[in-house]
Amino acid sequence: KSNTPMDNNAAEEKLVSAASSEVIINIEKVNKWYDDFHVLKDIDLVVKKGERIVVCGPSGSGKSTLIRCINNLEEHQEGSIVVDGITLNKNLKNIDHIRTEVGMVFQNFNLFPHLSILDNLMLGPIWVRKMPKAEARATALEYLERVKIPEQADKFPGQLSGGQQQRVAIARSLCMNPKIMLFDEPTSALDPEMIKEVLDVMVELAETGMTMIVVTHEMNFAKTIADRVIFMDEGDIVEENEPLQFFNNPQHDRTKLFLSQIL
Ligand code: ADP
Ligand code: MG
Repeated sequence: KSNTPMDNNAAEEKLVSAASSEVIINIEKVNKWYDDFHVLKDIDLVVKKGERIVVCGPSGSGKSTLIRCINNLEEHQEGSIVVDGITLNKNLKNIDHIRTEVGMVFQNFNLFPHLSILDNLMLGPIWVRKMPKAEARATALEYLERVKIPEQADKFPGQLSGGQQQRVAIARSLCMNPKIMLFDEPTSALDPEMIKEVLDVMVELAETGMTMIVVTHEMNFAKTIADRVIFMDEGDIVEENEPLQFFNNPQHDRTKLFLSQIL
């Protein structure tokens, strides 16, 4: 493997890949338009169970749209997306199934402000998974422990810092026992001192072997956890590679330009 030096902020120890040979997401020739704006152009992407993918690229390149298509928050017009054996289409039963198997964490946490932290975590398991209340409560507390804020259980989202709220949002997704976790710029709304506490939780999640697709520009995080880094620009996947090659030896001019702007 490459011995090329990394940049000054040396990445943490690279995690061993958890990728298996089993395909869990298969995206083929996907095209999507917002009215006449062509936002995703012939996207092909195969993700293996346990694989960890980082997606980066300029603002407006289609990163959010792509991952929102994977849990059917957005519809695509052409091509096929198969997630966990289920083809995404207008079938509502399929959409419900996908939403329970695919967790999503957003930039702005999206917690319910009028519910306590514990109730935020218990809602999905009770209403979607039909879990008994006592079990949902135990699960919620277990995951709050995992993200290291069990003492916040009875507070409301507005009483927590951004970093704490994002960890609650991650715990809330995990309470549903998803097979895949999608993250859309999970740290970009956070003050700098809170970014690490969220990334640490995500690294721990990666260590459990979770299949993860993470839109982020946190390059040290990418170097630590990613099996592959994907670079998008103007609705295309322009380049993809394992992180060391991606950062040290980018092939396309657009990738080089992007990296020169963020590093
Ligand atoms: P990224 O996440 O890479 O910043 P997005 O997927 O959010 O990119 O957006 C890609 C492009 O699609 C942008 O030009 C954006 O303005 C446009 N776009 C995103 N969502 C919508 C929408 N709901 N309706 C119309 N245009 C949209
Ligand atoms: Mg986005």
